[in-house]
Amino acid sequence: MSKEQSIRRIALFGSTGSIGTQALEVIAANADKFSVEILTAHSNEELLIEQALKFKPNMVVIADDKKYLKVKEALATSDTKVFAGEKALEEVAAIDCYDLMLAAIVGYAGLRPTLQAINIGKPIALANKETLVVAGDIIMRKAVENRVPIIPVDSEHSAIFQCLVGETRNKIEKVILTASGGPFLGRKPNYLVNVKREHALQHPNWNMGAKITIDSATLMNKGLEMIEAKWLFNLQPEQIRVLVHPQSIIHSMVQFEDGSIKAQMGLPDMKLPIQYALSFPKRIPNQFPRYDFKKVNTLTFEEPDIRTFRNLSLAIDALNKGGNLPSVMNAANEIAVYAFLKNRINFLDMTDVVEKTMQKIPFIDKPTLEEYFESDGEARTFAADLIKL
Ligand code: NAD
Ligand code: MG
Repeated sequence: MSKEQSIRRIALFGSTGSIGTQALEVIAANADKFSVEILTAHSNEELLIEQALKFKPNMVVIADDKKYLKVKEALATSDTKVFAGEKALEEVAAIDCYDLMLAAIVGYAGLRPTLQAINIGKPIALANKETLVVAGDIIMRKAVENRVPIIPVDSEHSAIFQCLVGETRNKIEKVILTASGGPFLGRKPNYLVNVKREHALQHPNWNMGAKITIDSATLMNKGLEMIEAKWLFNLQPEQIRVLVHPQSIIHSMVQFEDGSIKAQMGLPDMKLPIQYALSFPKRIPNQFPRYDFKKVNTLTFEEPDIRTFRNLSLAIDALNKGGNLPSVMNAANEIAVYAFLKNRINFLDMTDVVEKTMQKIPFIDKPTLEEYFESDGEARTFAADLIKL
């Protein structure tokens, strides 16, 4: 194989976000292994332009079409083609010009482009967990039909994926998803009711986008991850456990039929699971800081407090009942987090919005893709009305 052919061409959807920018750091450090074919952003046109000038992709998409002209002008003398609008995300994802899509858009908006990539048989490095929460059965079925590998980027799922290498014939007893507990670990509702946006945006161990940081503070993130794990690893709900591990050194574990437990460990740095997903099945060297057993020499574990952090128990409910309930929960949560970030509702109201929406939207046991989309829309409208957005 020539050197050219061995370069993996990446379509990076959501390049201006926390995962997107870290992925570009990994790619820049390994220019002999990866090239950038597509970059997309929602509205941060300045960063998208800067990235395009540096990485020289074949195409860029700016989802907010009001920004089209600015991006077009800035890239006029380059070879990069510029597209705009939500629909263009899907159209570009369906073009056969890349080897792997890194799905790093946040929320429901990431689903359709990812589905297009699966439809044309492109492997997916999946950061966007909401895609599997909304329509996990359909996504995984299409991935199997098209022989598309879905390689997790979420650190917990990357850990489980790594623990499962070489274990294809062995039965999983359970997976243990670790959770940092977020900034409000040990707090009770009388404290949480007064929590402000700025405080909730301070995560102790990870520096992430705003939505996932709030989800980590409410533990909804761990709930979404339980559902993500169910689809990725074909598990029953009772095989998925959550364990609070505030140091975030063990990223998750798999317990096999013989009781043996494998854990994947390392410093909390998303560049590691991003790099693993991009280079899989190979591991490639890097200069990231290493975990020092002497520095963090105590690893602790405790049960999550699902009475206080009720979002996690709502998500367990959605995990158990299935159907359209996870998609309804996800939509209501996206609206609630948005409202909290705009200082429209308080921290605990987020859970009420999600719970009421889950109670209201009619249950569908085996939804079609269209029905998942409809449930998402109905849940958004109902949740927004509740908040009077
Ligand atoms: P972020 O908010 O930092 O970035 C999101 C990206 O998606 C940006 O490039 C933005 O332009 C784009 N985007 C947002 N809304 C869009 C829309 N409507 N249409 C098109 N593009 C849109 O988010 P993030 O923290 O990088 O997270 C991305 C995904 O990865 C999320 O699903 C998150 O749950 C998951 N994830 C993130 C981390 C992390 O450390 N940040 C860890 C694990 C999983
Ligand atoms: Mg995670």
